[in-house]
Amino acid sequence: MEELLRMEHISKRFGNFYANHDVNFSVAKGEVHTLLGENGAGKSTLMNILIGLYQPTEGKIFLNGQEVRIDSPSQAVKLGIGMVHQHFMLVPSLTVAENMVLGMVPKKSGLFIDAKKAVEITKEYSEKFNLHVDPDAKVMDIPVGMKQKVEILKALVRGARILILDEPTAVLTAQETEELFKELINLKKQGYTIIFISHKLNEIMQITDRMTILR
Ligand code: ADP
Ligand code: MG
Repeated sequence: MEELLRMEHISKRFGNFYANHDVNFSVAKGEVHTLLGENGAGKSTLMNILIGLYQPTEGKIFLNGQEVRIDSPSQAVKLGIGMVHQHFMLVPSLTVAENMVLGMVPKKSGLFIDAKKAVEITKEYSEKFNLHVDPDAKVMDIPVGMKQKVEILKALVRGARILILDEPTAVLTAQETEELFKELINLKKQGYTIIFISHKLNEIMQITDRMTILR
């Protein structure tokens, strides 16, 4: 097993309350690793630390054996870490293609990705990863399963090699869940590492290589 990521002795305190207390978490390259725990166990908090939304009160993060500081979400993107949050972060009034490239080019530079290019990129990634989306549809008009695919593609187009999915099946039907599992296994075959957050043990056995239980 080749260790890709290690979070060591991580604590996160909000006021007097510890959302994470001395957590150790290690992920191997190319595995589907489930982070399992009841509601309130601290799963989302731990992953929000990994993507730089929160700073840990204590603890260290290592990527490929090197200690890293992840002090912003853009730093996490640079390190190849992407997350699909439980509550999607898409802009409903924009199209799938527009959401795909949103914020990717710094506005200051004056370089905008045009609409045609955005559609091209969306189609390219959609085909490459077998994640079917409609580039021209407005996000407000597409089903939740497709919104999730857009979120996954958004992370991939930004260069994520470690993909975190926060309770992705909570919003899906049984059939959509099956579809998602196939897509994730496909990503794994292409060398991606997946951290899959869940509080349901029964659903994850099908795709999980290893798991960490957070109490
Ligand atoms: P999980 O994702 O496992 O359900 P969370 O990481 O969301 O758990 O939350 C862990 C605990 O930390 C919960 O008790 C939650 O209320 C608390 N918590 C999470 N975020 C904050 C915050 N920003 N401020 C205060 N408490 C928080
Ligand atoms: Mg959560």
